Amino acid sequence: MLGSGLRGIGLVGLGGIAGVLTNRSRVRDTLWQIDPQKCIACGNCATYCVLEESAVKCVHAYAMCGYCELCTGFFPPEPQALNTGAENQLCPTGAIVRTFVEDPYFEYTIDEKLCIGCGKCVKGCNAFGNGSLFLQVRHDRCLNCNQCSIAAACPSQAYRRVPADRPYLLKGTDHTE
Ligand code: SF4
Ligand code: SF4
Ligand code: SF4
Repeated sequence: MLGSGLRGIGLVGLGGIAGVLTNRSRVRDTLWQIDPQKCIACGNCATYCVLEESAVKCVHAYAMCGYCELCTGFFPPEPQALNTGAENQLCPTGAIVRTFVEDPYFEYTIDEKLCIGCGKCVKGCNAFGNGSLFLQVRHDRCLNCNQCSIAAACPSQAYRRVPADRPYLLKGTDHTE
């Protein structure tokens, strides 16, 4: 019942990216990407990018999300209350928007402008939730450096080059093979 409408919201953003990528794929054969199955959300993606604002952002696979009232990607362990007070948010920049859907479900949307790619929400969601939040290199920002400095600093070898015409490794699809 929560189904198709909500999932559609998730696909809008990624569809927009695909347009940008179609142009890039003509000039580049491969691009850097994070395998979300290997990422351990260590925090390096926020700090090792050559760009002042990291090219890595959080992405949400809505089809995998439980729409939990107590989202462990949104709330810190043992929150004071289940509301959107700053003291109850795990995200250091307030980049996750929590919206009531219907009792007892809530939707969580990433405000990409605010996301710094720190992975705190990813870690929380992986630890106790469905793992629907994950990190991806956003190719509308990435410079596609010959040697990605985050890849060099990644402790879990989660970075690899992917074909430019299939530039995302999305959870909940067959693109993480
Ligand atoms: S916790 Fe970190 S990775 Fe998650 S949305 Fe906030 S800034 Fe982005
Ligand atoms: S390739 Fe360069 S710009 Fe892209 S994520 Fe890595 S360091 Fe950042
Ligand atoms: S550096 Fe590697 S393990 Fe750390 S957050 Fe980035 S992709 Fe994940």
